[in-house]
Amino acid sequence: MGGCHSYGKGDVETHDQNLEFSNIPVQKLKNNNTKAAPSLEEKPYLLSVYVSERITDMDMKTLSSLPDGFDKAEWMATHTIAFFKHINLFSSALSEFCTTKTCPTTAAPGNTTYYWQFDHNKKEKCSAPLYIDYAMSYIQELLTDENVFPTSTGSRFPNGFPFLVQKIFLYLFRTLTHLYWAHFREIVKMEMHPHLNTLYIHFMTFSKEFDLLEPMETAIMDDLTEALHRYNNV
Ligand SMILES: [Zn+2]
Repeated sequence: MGGCHSYGKGDVETHDQNLEFSNIPVQKLKNNNTKAAPSLEEKPYLLSVYVSERITDMDMKTLSSLPDGFDKAEWMATHTIAFFKHINLFSSALSEFCTTKTCPTTAAPGNTTYYWQFDHNKKEKCSAPLYIDYAMSYIQELLTDENVFPTSTGSRFPNGFPFLVQKIFLYLFRTLTHLYWAHFREIVKMEMHPHLNTLYIHFMTFSKEFDLLEPMETAIMDDLTEALHRYNNV
């Protein structure tokens, strides 16, 4: 394993986690930009009070880059497994809030709705918990397939390995997107947002480093990605 997924608990400034989102005055926003207020109400994860929180100040680019002498496929495989485990853990922790009643469709920012696509190209509009279940089961199956993610020493990764990793990253990205969009209030109540922000920015930095996600796909979360980068560089 790459050994780079144990985020140490850093010195994180604490804030009152019980803030009512609707009561957050515009003055609390870093730029005092009144025009941004409606969007922040719709996207509480962009509020500076939350976006500034993470559990480590480690540089994600350094953490993601392939170290000299490491095998690229091995590096990608260990990260894919670790990202899957972390994101699966988050979605499990939030499963009581993400139900067929609360999330009858798999909603994401910008009026986006994700459809599950079966092999025979039939798209199915499904609830978010079902979509996430499909996604996690699909990934789990690939990760435990010895022909795709070989575990024995000397085994080779298949030719289509990068394509499969891209597909896994797509489903992980969509899961993260739904959690931020539909469940950020619960995430804050559970004080999980510093962990999720750290995981998200590591995931996005890694996917950019290895071209694992299409910019068109990730555009709906560019505002969060940019905000998290901005705070990381302070
Ligand atoms: Zn949901």
